[in-house]
Amino acid sequence: MLNVPPQAFPAPRSQQRVSAGGRAKVPLKPGRSLMDWIRLTKSGKDLTGLKGRLIEVTEDELAKHNKKEDCWICIRGFVYNVTPYMEYHPGGEDELMKAAGTDGTDLFDQVHRWVNYESMLKECLVGRMAVKPIAAPKGMVPEKKGLGASVKDLTPSYDWFQTDNSITVVIYTKQKDMNAELVIVDCQDKRLRGEIIVGDHSYLVEVDLDHAVQEDVAVNIAEKVGKIEIILKKKDNVHWKMLGQPLESHNTFIKRTDRGLFYRKCKLVSKTEVTHDTKLFRLMLPKSTHLHVPTGQHVYLKKNIAGTEVVKPYTPVLPFLPLDFKEPFSHDGAHIYLMIKIYSCGLFTQALDHLQIGDYISVSNPEGNFKKSQVQTLEDLFLLAAGTGFTPMVKLLNFALTEVSCLRTVKLIFFNKTEDDILWRNQLEQLALKDERFEVQFILSQPTKDWVGKQGKISSSLLSEFVKISRKDSKVLICICGPTPFTEQGVQYLKDLGYSQEEIHAFTA
Ligand code: FAD
Ligand code: NAP
Repeated sequence: MLNVPPQAFPAPRSQQRVSAGGRAKVPLKPGRSLMDWIRLTKSGKDLTGLKGRLIEVTEDELAKHNKKEDCWICIRGFVYNVTPYMEYHPGGEDELMKAAGTDGTDLFDQVHRWVNYESMLKECLVGRMAVKPIAAPKGMVPEKKGLGASVKDLTPSYDWFQTDNSITVVIYTKQKDMNAELVIVDCQDKRLRGEIIVGDHSYLVEVDLDHAVQEDVAVNIAEKVGKIEIILKKKDNVHWKMLGQPLESHNTFIKRTDRGLFYRKCKLVSKTEVTHDTKLFRLMLPKSTHLHVPTGQHVYLKKNIAGTEVVKPYTPVLPFLPLDFKEPFSHDGAHIYLMIKIYSCGLFTQALDHLQIGDYISVSNPEGNFKKSQVQTLEDLFLLAAGTGFTPMVKLLNFALTEVSCLRTVKLIFFNKTEDDILWRNQLEQLALKDERFEVQFILSQPTKDWVGKQGKISSSLLSEFVKISRKDSKVLICICGPTPFTEQGVQYLKDLGYSQEEIHAFTA
């Protein structure tokens, strides 16, 4: 529901909108793109039917507005008239109608809580619910109900101390296997935010600091004991009476999915060509940010386009494919690398392409449901990628070849239209020469007559030809990523070939 970005992505008549059986996927009418919606919201037209008045809405009143031509939906206590938006919703009218006349918060969060509906639907705002909303505002409530007693006991805690020059915030996570990817720290304009990921929960320290601090922030993680120190340098040599004023979500331990996305501004430091239409963007994190995007996870980029905040997901890659797997590849942690295809009609990628070196863009905390533990004991790993669906495979490939000791084979089956579209082809071929566990197979759907390699599209026969386990009873994982219909079809073919749900991981939003 209310999803704009990924589902809007394939052009109305593009291949991506049609699945194996030719089933049409929510084709939007011409003139109903995200940009068209933004234009309509700026036109001054009364989209709520209330001439700009905001009202208090009772549950009974909300329930009355449950038809396509009169459809109100509540999200986090705010009620929107989504009738004007119906035809623009890339997920289709039926998806939106599932929440008609009700509180759609849970449904919205399940599908795409990252979509910036406040900005997208601001002209559709009818008012607030008169009663307490059914679902709590994101990340605002120290919600411990529903957690078992043992989880309650696991709630982290914090303390702080100071020297003449520094302030140290100590977080006791009560977890034995902490690592840098589980600690996200930002310090901007006297506001300190430290988020610790504990399983599917998030602990937050968030305060308005008592005094100003310097830009660089150090983070020490005692992995075995689960103690985290955030070390701030005082700007002035004064004694602090308190750490600062707690902000609303301070000292809360809630489900990760209930925590609002946090963004920080990152500087574009370089933009290099990967292929004719794909570029590698190198973004620099602020000095005061500690953030490592885990393998298989994505971030959201947010940009104001024609007055509306638009958000799209991207999967960070490495600066290049490391060829030496003796030690885990580590870069400085100060940069995020994104490999992004620029579409000539793309709303967001066109805006990204117009960014100049030195410009800033907002980058969110990481999200995603891939867990490294899925790979740790693997013997055979297959990666099925189409186009930029290659991006989650980059860190995964590096992680598997470096850190999975029992790994026998990694095979990348890479689907593209033409030879010119193949991302990092040379690097992949070099890697295949260098590491005998790695093999790459390129498959082109629209090759020129010179192409001597494999031709075709994802199909059951191609998969049975290329996905072959090295030994009977091998522990196998098959990861798949690309346009949604590609991924859906691939998963189905793999299931038909006898692979279980646990042996398949599909990267989706
Ligand atoms: P939109 O304005 O949404 O529209 C796309 C337009 O581009 C269409 O109108 C059409 O003209 C054209 N177009 C769409 N699809 C095609 C196609 N297959 N071939 C030709 N033209 C087409 N993208 C990356 O580049 N790198 C990533 O790392 C990445 N990671 C992602 C991670 C996740 C979890 C998800 C869900 C998506 C990811 N994407 C990634 C896709 C990305 O989020 C955007 O959807 C994409 O950048 C297009 O945005 P846009 O606003 O420019 O295009
Ligand atoms: P593309 O160049 O359009 O297509 C790559 C290959 O996939 C081509 O061979 C293409 O064949 C084939 N293909 C496209 N649609 C297909 C379909 N419906 N069925 C079967 N094969 C299909 O791809 P792209 O422009 O790079 O797009 C990459 C996609 O990956 C985007 O949709 C992006 O959102 C997604 N992505 C997702 C994630 C994630 O984590 N979820 C990460 C990165 C990217 P044709 O010749 O038939 O077009």
